[in-house]
Amino acid sequence: MTRNLRTGLRIAGIVLVLGGVVLAAIGFIDFFGSMGHSHDGLPGDLRHSAGESRFPTMFWMTFVGLPMIAGGVACLKAGFLGVASRYVADESQAAVRQVSQAAATGWRAGSAGPAGFCHRCGTPQQQDARFCHRCGAPTVRPGTV
Ligand SMILES: [Zn+2]
Repeated sequence: MTRNLRTGLRIAGIVLVLGGVVLAAIGFIDFFGSMGHSHDGLPGDLRHSAGESRFPTMFWMTFVGLPMIAGGVACLKAGFLGVASRYVADESQAAVRQVSQAAATGWRAGSAGPAGFCHRCGTPQQQDARFCHRCGAPTVRPGTV
């Protein structure tokens, strides 16, 4: 569910940014184009709207496009930062797991060995053995004494 949400955020962010850029570009082009045409003669088929052509009629697209870009960037940040934080969380969890495993291994190595080996002579031991059957070293483990 959360993966689908992040994927949706990324797709929505990309669509919003691209659409906002297109709208803002159209608005800017129309805005500066209208300024450029304000002193020039208009083509005959546009002369009937010469009075309105001084005002950039498409400039509203910029005001729609810029918030779309901002919203898209926010969606992209949410989508990709979520992955980044999840990646960091996985890494830290793996580190904690390794440290805890190392601690447990060291704890058992100090008594009977991690795989049931005698800590003095290395002879494989029964997991429930209390003394090494070869050298007689006590295989004291947590919980057995
Ligand atoms: Zn031994």
